[in-house]
Amino acid sequence: MNIHEYQAKEIFRRYNVPTPRGYVASSVEEAVQNAQKLGGTLWVVKAQIHAGGRGLGGGVKLARSLDEVKAHAQALLGMNLVTHQTTALGTCVQKIYIEEGVEIANEFYLGMVLDRSQELPVMMASCEGGMEIETIAQSAPEKIIKVSIDPFIGFQSYHGRELAFGLNLPQEETQNFIHCAKALYEAYMHNDASMIEINPLVKTKNGTFIALDAKMSFDDNALFRHPEIVAMRDTSEENPIEREASEYGLSYVKLNGSVGCMVNGAGLAMGTMDIIDYAGGEPANFLDVGGGANANTVAKGFEIILKDPNVKSIFVNIFGGIVRCDRIANGILEATKMVKVDVPVIVRLDGTNAKEAVEILKNANIKNIISATDLSDGAQKAVAAAKGALV
Ligand code: ADP
Ligand code: MG
Repeated sequence: MNIHEYQAKEIFRRYNVPTPRGYVASSVEEAVQNAQKLGGTLWVVKAQIHAGGRGLGGGVKLARSLDEVKAHAQALLGMNLVTHQTTALGTCVQKIYIEEGVEIANEFYLGMVLDRSQELPVMMASCEGGMEIETIAQSAPEKIIKVSIDPFIGFQSYHGRELAFGLNLPQEETQNFIHCAKALYEAYMHNDASMIEINPLVKTKNGTFIALDAKMSFDDNALFRHPEIVAMRDTSEENPIEREASEYGLSYVKLNGSVGCMVNGAGLAMGTMDIIDYAGGEPANFLDVGGGANANTVAKGFEIILKDPNVKSIFVNIFGGIVRCDRIANGILEATKMVKVDVPVIVRLDGTNAKEAVEILKNANIKNIISATDLSDGAQKAVAAAKGALV
């Protein structure tokens, strides 16, 4: 789950990660009031959408007067902001964040993710603040300083010093930086974040550090421990089909191909996407209907897959381990009565009672339901069907 910058900054403040003062607004009047509340003579008006790259996309504006705050708020609220991380249609800006303007001396990058190869959280820092870490990793990987942190030991000063030395910070600034990095570590660990990022972390003229941007993502499997983070969820930022699927306990991720996939188990779903690719096609989605698939979940699965107009065939690939294949076959037949399925459905069922399942489907004699003999046969038929070839 992702949250907005203003929400991530609320969390930062709880852990003493230094942030500029700021208030969120949903209307122009509120934006101006916020600027008045902040005082001063320099404000930044920032579009709150889940995508990054807002600065380049025109979603971060400096204002030197309340009139300018007003004009920027008017322009940003309700606009579809396009950045390189949004779709070409952009994301509608519903909230803006009014923040005090900070005099920047230097911009850095500081972030944390889980390093799966090390099996440890890793903190990364770079002098190339403002640039995306993925870009630096490709163009100048030596400019990223990384330290792995064993959670049993926790963040220690030597971790911070290693990063500070790597950034060539003068000694008198090291303590400030370490304080910031330690606070970031606590915010990451205590909230079960999967990613936390300050880009840019800026050094002001007097050598203090402050987080100008804030990004956090959370491990969905740990959200039950954090009701206050769940409360920050902004469903308007999520794909509506993915959201509907999650309400029915289905894991669905929309992709760009034409072969819809309905599979039980995440591993088999990944394998199915690979084999579709291998057969020369492209999967339209990832869909894991879970271990206890029945007629209702299969029907919901069809409904969700068919909401995507790119889908030209559906590959049902279910292994009958916990569920028996004959029950799934009956479930598929029942589901086609509940939902109008007008594309070819290629069914590969294997495992317990697979033979009976094939018989059930054969006897039902429905024209667009086609049995596959095995995994590669199923993938080939599904790809051929998606390309309009007779199966
Ligand atoms: P994004 O990463 O989506 O482009 P940022 O929050 O990083 O958005 O803002 C883009 C740029 O705008 C920053 O790199 C920084 O130079 C400038 N900026 C952002 N917030 C402030 C602020 N409070 N004061 C001064 N400049 C800011
Ligand atoms: Mg940024």
